Amino acid sequence: MSWDTQHFMDGERVFGVGEMAWRYDPADSRRLVSTFPMGTRKDAAHAIDAAVRAFPKWATVPAPERARIIRNVGELARSKIDDLATIMTAEAGKPLRESRGEIAKGILVLDYYDGAGLRLRGEVTPAEAADVLTYTQRFPLSVVSLITPWNFPWAVPLWKIAPALVAGNTIVWKPSPFVPRMSEVIVELFAEAGLPPGVLNLVHGGAEVGEELVQNSAIQAVSFTGSTGVGRAIYRTAAERGLSRVLCELGGKNAIVVMPDADPELAVPGIIGGAFGSAGQRCTATSRVLVHRSVALLATELIVERARALKVGPGLDPETQMGPVVSDEHCRRVLASIDAAKAIGIRCCTGGHRLTDGALEYGNFVAPTVFDGVPPDCGLFREEVFGPVLAITTIGSYAEAIELLNAVEYGHAASLYTEDRRLLDRFPHDAQVGMVHLNEPTPGGEAQLPFGGMKATGIGPREMGDEGILFFTQEKTIFRNFGGGSLLSAR
Ligand code: NAD
Repeated sequence: MSWDTQHFMDGERVFGVGEMAWRYDPADSRRLVSTFPMGTRKDAAHAIDAAVRAFPKWATVPAPERARIIRNVGELARSKIDDLATIMTAEAGKPLRESRGEIAKGILVLDYYDGAGLRLRGEVTPAEAADVLTYTQRFPLSVVSLITPWNFPWAVPLWKIAPALVAGNTIVWKPSPFVPRMSEVIVELFAEAGLPPGVLNLVHGGAEVGEELVQNSAIQAVSFTGSTGVGRAIYRTAAERGLSRVLCELGGKNAIVVMPDADPELAVPGIIGGAFGSAGQRCTATSRVLVHRSVALLATELIVERARALKVGPGLDPETQMGPVVSDEHCRRVLASIDAAKAIGIRCCTGGHRLTDGALEYGNFVAPTVFDGVPPDCGLFREEVFGPVLAITTIGSYAEAIELLNAVEYGHAASLYTEDRRLLDRFPHDAQVGMVHLNEPTPGGEAQLPFGGMKATGIGPREMGDEGILFFTQEKTIFRNFGGGSLLSAR
């Protein structure tokens, strides 16, 4: 079975003017999963026009009513979790259990922003003059663009779409070309839930569409999640046309620090889940372990043993614990990083190759890979691999761990495993990251909590939580003179 997907503009499926493209199953390249139109600048401009036309009416819908549509989407999604998870697994390759987990996470995001319709608050503050009321009020921006990656094809779009809509904006969204059907399902759910035509528009495509969604003068904010290179280019382009409301959530090189008193029964499963969940294709994946030399041998042994035991296979197989990476091209990139590490003599303790046996022959499977003795000046220690590859480095002290933790350009997530309360208190001060975990793995985000990174990981404000909604609103300060006198001379 394969899906024939299209753009979605002004409440209708639209083929557009671009060429047809194909998405194949990452677990079996012989299987066509979806067809979709590769959008062009012209398609993007049509979608933007639709959003411009829809804005004035949508902005007048009271925020609690806008939020009710978000709630309807959540209810619809709850009744279709298995279908949605199957689509996600077919396109993105995740094991079904992980796909279901992501669908559930996205529903919690919808629940949270459903409530946000009642919390779109301003503030009344005393004025200098008598008989004047001064207060702030939040208004929509108008048309905003969202550009999203493939690795969380449901949760990431929802944590941008839901706050943007509650705030009263209309949207043009470009998802990754790896997940066309998952994206189409999202806009269909919103339409079914009662969203008026033109309020949420979907354009499939690549860089050409993405660039139009940043350059077009109708766009009043850009929310992007993806790689650091593309995020920086978007930020530059937006700055050139004077658009400052830009949010970019980018790559990571996240580490877990293991101190001598860490509980290995807690730390090792955390490392395995963090490194090999989603085949390492998470911005918050654990890609480095900084382990104290007194426990390095034991920890490495346990990590290698458990990495070897992982059952790798197609995501649709219920036994599978780790699925394929997203594409053949990406698989080759991951293998090139592995080969580069081997070429400079770093010890590969397990994995380090493509898996092609039996049912895996036509998929993009990389064996769970662990290197140890990884020096801090090499690519494997510093660059995002975005695959199931873990680099272990031995440290001699907490101070050294912090130095190495912060020695990379990224600043997304970090974790410390220790029983030492003093270090647990210090770590959030010392770690140059946006997401700090104590005695738990590096991945994780919750709808009600701000999410994002520092340094090369994050440009602009955080997503989710109340921060998520502030980004999509324009705050205005209002002076209301109810005494009748003129204040101009006093100001
Ligand atoms: P990517 O940067 O290649 O693509 C992301 C999106 O940008 C896609 O929709 C793509 O088509 C679009 N795009 C590509 N070139 C563009 C251009 N020139 N102008 C505008 N848009 C353009 O990233 P990806 O491979 O889809 O996703 C993986 C990356 O995303 C990793 O680096 C990962 O760390 C990051 N990521 C970050 C977070 C976070 O919250 N920090 C979350 C998920 C993924």
